[in-house]
Amino acid sequence: MTMKAPQGSILPELQISKRGAERLQSGHVWVYRSDVVPVEPEIAAGALVRVVDHRKKPLGTAFYSSASQIAVRMLTSGALTPNELPSLLRQRIHDAVAYRKQVVQNTDAYRVIFSEADFLPGLIVDRYNDVLSLQAQTQAMDTTAVRETVLASLLEELKPDGIVERVEPRVRELENLPSRDSQLLHGEKTSTIFTMNGVKFHYDGLHGQKTGAFLDQRENYAAAEQYAHGEALDMFCYQGGFALHLARCCEKVTGVDSSCPALEVAEENAVLNVREVEWMEANAFDLLKDYATAGRQYDTIVLDPPAFAKSKRDLDAAARGYKELNLRALKMLRPGGVLVTCSCSYHVSEQELQSIVVAASLDARRTVRILEKRGQAKDHPVVPTIPETAYLKALLLSVV
Ligand code: SAH
Repeated sequence: MTMKAPQGSILPELQISKRGAERLQSGHVWVYRSDVVPVEPEIAAGALVRVVDHRKKPLGTAFYSSASQIAVRMLTSGALTPNELPSLLRQRIHDAVAYRKQVVQNTDAYRVIFSEADFLPGLIVDRYNDVLSLQAQTQAMDTTAVRETVLASLLEELKPDGIVERVEPRVRELENLPSRDSQLLHGEKTSTIFTMNGVKFHYDGLHGQKTGAFLDQRENYAAAEQYAHGEALDMFCYQGGFALHLARCCEKVTGVDSSCPALEVAEENAVLNVREVEWMEANAFDLLKDYATAGRQYDTIVLDPPAFAKSKRDLDAAARGYKELNLRALKMLRPGGVLVTCSCSYHVSEQELQSIVVAASLDARRTVRILEKRGQAKDHPVVPTIPETAYLKALLLSVV
């Protein structure tokens, strides 16, 4: 006798609390583990689950993680069978690619898929010209079936010469996934040259820093270039994103970073663009202190530090860090100078960043005028009901 799966209940059911259900009703797609009613036997890692509320009302279909604090990531408010999953994924990948055609200009490098913001929770895909970089950040996105569908779909949509997988060990640990090295998934090409706003950059998906570029700043590079002039200082320059744009309109540009490998690529990028930039390996805090004490002056300063506030607990220390950097930069700017100040900490809001910069300007006895308030480039879409999709802030200021 063969056993038949009971109709309509192929997927494991997962019940969530009233609070969890309210979160979904507000348009978010995550349910935290504390809002999940424990079930026996434990649901398999990365499984597709049927989510029901505290009264057993169906709320839709989701990816389940057995390890992450984010236990549930909703895929659809409707019912879905495992057989229907590949076509849903293919459709969403197609839609993500179509969206980029609408919003991305002047570049062959951009984020093709931005996880929840493209309704593909746990999947990040970046395009660098003819090479794609893929990150599967959750158990569900890392399952063989899902990976195969995603790969086939990306090949069909974008026809890249290579697809590399980028692995962030910490992300895999959080999801309790076995460690894995970054690897070539398709084709042969792992490195290339890409162009943003007419500036060329090297990309190496497997060697070197493996991190690619900060594509989210692409539109801010172009905006900064509009106002930048004179002598420019790009603090936390990484591989030269801002510095190489500023080199087109400034007399002299200095790029500072604490990472020597990043600066090596920055210099290769400068050569590629036939530009001269002075690169300095230094701790930004120490260097700004020394330069400010020495009375150095600039016309344009960019501050693009790493995320100081990784969690809410770090907020005070982060605020002090941002304040110190901005205070010193403001003191060093000549009248009419331009400050481009960024924060990629999700936990520091635009309003908070602005307050910190205003406090710094009062201490420095300088008046600032807001040229532009900006965020991440449009290929990193912001979904207002999922606040975590908005993280990058950039204030462009004219300093009196
Ligand atoms: N502006 C860059 C991205 C910056 S990412 C771009 O648009 O491409 C943050 C950079 O800060 C990293 O390259 C990292 O190496 C550097 N960094 C981190 N801590 C630093 C410190 N204390 N001093 C100088 N650089 C630092």
